[in-house]
Amino acid sequence: MTKNPKEEKTLVLIKPDGIQRALAGEILSRFERVGLKLVALKFLLPTPDQAYRHYVKNEAEIEALGFRSIEGKKKSGIEVTEEPKLLGKKIIDRLVTFLSAGPVIAMVLEGNHAVAITRKLVGSTEPLQSDVGTIRGDYTIDSYSLADYGDAGRAVRNLIHASANIEEADYEIKVWFEPKEIVNYKNSFDAILYDVNLDGILE
Ligand code: GDP
Repeated sequence: MTKNPKEEKTLVLIKPDGIQRALAGEILSRFERVGLKLVALKFLLPTPDQAYRHYVKNEAEIEALGFRSIEGKKKSGIEVTEEPKLLGKKIIDRLVTFLSAGPVIAMVLEGNHAVAITRKLVGSTEPLQSDVGTIRGDYTIDSYSLADYGDAGRAVRNLIHASANIEEADYEIKVWFEPKEIVNYKNSFDAILYDVNLDGILE
């Protein structure tokens, strides 16, 4: 039998800037109130190796990240001359430094179209471009031009990571959680969101 769509899962990280700014509760409540179910959660200090494995599931991902960055910068009117693979490498180095610089919260969210719904709530990568109403648009103000300003540069601080697609979610969940740490349970939303017979609504 194919997987029940209501069991789709995604991986979310509240990055060190989200923890430092005490936004964990606010961020978590956005996912709870839309109807996504929390099925795993931990607070931890990632190692650089774990951060690297999270961002680089294979070599092609490095170049793909460079391409995404170039596209994002174009939308903000920034001209990029760097080759995508080199740019991707540079961004990965910065991301590994950032993600392992302080504690993060890792969580798994479950629900119908969990991956797409979560990405919609999170907003686009650069907070300058993220829509109002999204987590990145509502709670922070970073931009590519500021993050890349000067010689050193740093990762764009955008509070949160969310898996981009189902395949990425399957991979990333394994980077942060053992299968036994993901809890299968019913909550009071299940009936009204999903049950054909609305079981449990009336006594
Ligand atoms: P996401 O899925 O929206 O997080 O975006 P990506 O997977 O494309 O990028 C991963 C992370 O790298 C982003 O969340 C940013 O923190 C950072 N990042 C991406 N592109 C750039 C860039 O061009 N410059 C800098 N400084 N950071 C970037």
